[in-house]
Amino acid sequence: MQFTRLRLLGFKSFVDPTELVIAPGLTGVVGPNGCGKSNLLEALRWVMGENRPSAMRGGGMEDVIFAGAATRPARNYAEVTLHLDNSQRLAPAGFNDADNLEIVRRITRDAGSAYKANGKEARARDIQMLFADASTGAHSPALVRQGQISELINAKPKARRRILEEAAGISGLYQRRHEAELKLRATESNLERVDDVLEALR
Ligand code: ATP
Repeated sequence: MQFTRLRLLGFKSFVDPTELVIAPGLTGVVGPNGCGKSNLLEALRWVMGENRPSAMRGGGMEDVIFAGAATRPARNYAEVTLHLDNSQRLAPAGFNDADNLEIVRRITRDAGSAYKANGKEARARDIQMLFADASTGAHSPALVRQGQISELINAKPKARRRILEEAAGISGLYQRRHEAELKLRATESNLERVDDVLEALR
């Protein structure tokens, strides 16, 4: 699936609706200091489900909402929309009903984040999984932020392994394994309680 368009509204410095066409071959964004290049990349991570405020260079997730400027009041919400070309129908079940896939994430002050996929409400986990399975996602090494290359050079082997796993497209499987382990532990503890009850009845 190819990203085709990114639309920002009230996200960080992009207070007015702003659209970036992601044409094939686009590999970087250049511009003067402070013009919003990193904010664009963060919008892309954010709409794919990033939930660590630190990855957005903020203290809390609401810091992504336009905070106001000398001539503009602050906004109450931020919204990022990502369009993907799904003409090859590679999206997973539940997202695969059209040639274009539109993912929207919106955050409203004091009300948190909500996602939509092709107009229907979607769970954060399903959106994150959609991109993890497509070997991209909020933590994708394909999105290179400032300082990341030197971090990579100095990274510990475990961190480097994560990057290779992401590139190999297996990070979605790790998430599923983690969830399966949690369920297994809960089931084990339920079984222990059943044993206790049975013991008490003997
Ligand atoms: P550099 O080349 O220096 O790294 P850049 O082009 O990557 O710069 P960004 O870091 O993306 O620029 O943008 C920084 C600008 O975004 C700053 O002017 C900052 O004030 C503004 N900004 C960040 N968060 C918000 C917010 N919530 N509301 C309004 N403006 C914001």
